[in-house]
Amino acid sequence: MTASPLPVDPFDLVIFGGTGDLAVRKLLPALYHRYADGQIPETSRIIGIAREGLDDDGYRASTRKALQENGGDKSKIDAFLKLVHYRSLDARKDDGWDDFAALIGGQPDHVRVFYLSTSPELFVDICNRLGTYGLNKGKARVVLEKPIGRDLKSANQINDAVGRVFDESQTYRIDHYLGKETVQNLLALRFGNILFEPLWNAEHIDHVQITVAETLGVGQRAGYYDHAGALRDMVQNHLLQLLCMVAMEPPSSLSPDAVRDEKLKVLRSLKHIDESNASQLTVRGQYRAGAAEGQSVPGYLDELKDHKSNTETFVAVKAEIANWRWAGVPFYLRTGKRLPERVSEIVVVFKPVPHSIFDPSAGVLAQNRLVLRLQPDENIKLWVTIKHPGPGGLRLRHVSLDMSFAEAFGVQQPDAYERLILDVVRGNPTLFMRRDEVEAAWHWADPILAAWADSGESPRPYTSGTWGPSAAVALIERDGRTWNEDSE
Ligand code: NAP
Repeated sequence: MTASPLPVDPFDLVIFGGTGDLAVRKLLPALYHRYADGQIPETSRIIGIAREGLDDDGYRASTRKALQENGGDKSKIDAFLKLVHYRSLDARKDDGWDDFAALIGGQPDHVRVFYLSTSPELFVDICNRLGTYGLNKGKARVVLEKPIGRDLKSANQINDAVGRVFDESQTYRIDHYLGKETVQNLLALRFGNILFEPLWNAEHIDHVQITVAETLGVGQRAGYYDHAGALRDMVQNHLLQLLCMVAMEPPSSLSPDAVRDEKLKVLRSLKHIDESNASQLTVRGQYRAGAAEGQSVPGYLDELKDHKSNTETFVAVKAEIANWRWAGVPFYLRTGKRLPERVSEIVVVFKPVPHSIFDPSAGVLAQNRLVLRLQPDENIKLWVTIKHPGPGGLRLRHVSLDMSFAEAFGVQQPDAYERLILDVVRGNPTLFMRRDEVEAAWHWADPILAAWADSGESPRPYTSGTWGPSAAVALIERDGRTWNEDSE
């Protein structure tokens, strides 16, 4: 039996960019699911904002469509839509802001969440206006979507401007990977058991792999993506945050700063990669035409309609953490578009046993592996060696123990945005990035980007539907290791 989740206090949640892809595909469905589960009080309000000239009814109609496509229950959707409102505002113009401020001011006791689901160029304008109209006071919080800048300098500009209106304690920089069930479960596994932590170090762990692979290309987002690339879009935020969760020291508690202090120490301990070693420790690639999910697909440059771009759509990095716990343990990171499978996973590979007592005819003694799958399905598997059951001599088998138990508990795993939005309402920033973390991550990423730019080299081409350039395979095989290939 699972306990019902506890309701949160009544809130007003304003989605700037309320008609955009993220709002429609993720934020509104996440809010609906929490409402349907009884966690959102009826007096709460969800207010979509964009320039499009819609009214409440028009916005409710498009929200209804999105929720129905998502499999929502009709009567619950009807009830949920009573909470939903719309205001047409331009972040860059004053028209309508008086009325909007009066609407928000009408519920002074509510927690106010301003979710900035727009392009980051608008963050400063939106925050300045929220400040001018006094909406940053009381229980006000602001959520910033990625990307926060494209380097340390631009991230600082955004953070400075937001910081002039909202205190750091009111600022929630979201990384939805941290809201995933498996990432929470990693905390429970590491710090709720005595089994793993004694082995969680360079003495017993051979290496760690973190893969975030997408089958999609850049499609409609080519314009945005070409200014970013895989290192900025995925590694600087999502992959580094996952690395932190694996590598951090046990925090003294789950209090927001205790956890974020430990993550920050990891980021600051990352070994520097620059022009002296980038060619050995990084591989970048760009997809060419090929096949994805049985269909032929165009290459990146064709999608971009520009034949000169040096933007990487794939990156592999051998990262190292220079501290006592992790000295000499590589963290191989890779991410890319148009890869053969959509999969996000963390693989912790333990060292081999020091001596085998088994006859070679018993089979190969594989290394233990802990595989934390974040996408497409969330699960955790521990691979161990056992004896093949029954007679026939001692034959060794490598089998996986399922440690996620979602089925056993009969629980449907919530989308990461469901958990994270309610964490903002509750005022719990543990799973959000603090400003110094963002800065430390850029501090590591900037010299890699500079080394690539200075090299004058183009990204290596790879065929869509393959695991990136062959150099990415060589990056790990040079060290006598291979990328995890068990798709089970
Ligand atoms: P999008 O589909 O392009 O939506 C942008 C939204 O902003 C629209 O509602 C647009 O409506 C509104 N907007 C644009 N200019 C405005 C202005 N001057 N004043 C008020 N509203 C304005 O973008 P998205 O994909 O939803 O992404 C939003 C943010 O989330 C971006 O920072 C993106 O990087 C980030 N993100 C997106 C995803 C995703 O899966 N989509 C994932 C992670 C992070 P109007 O044009 O009508 O004003």
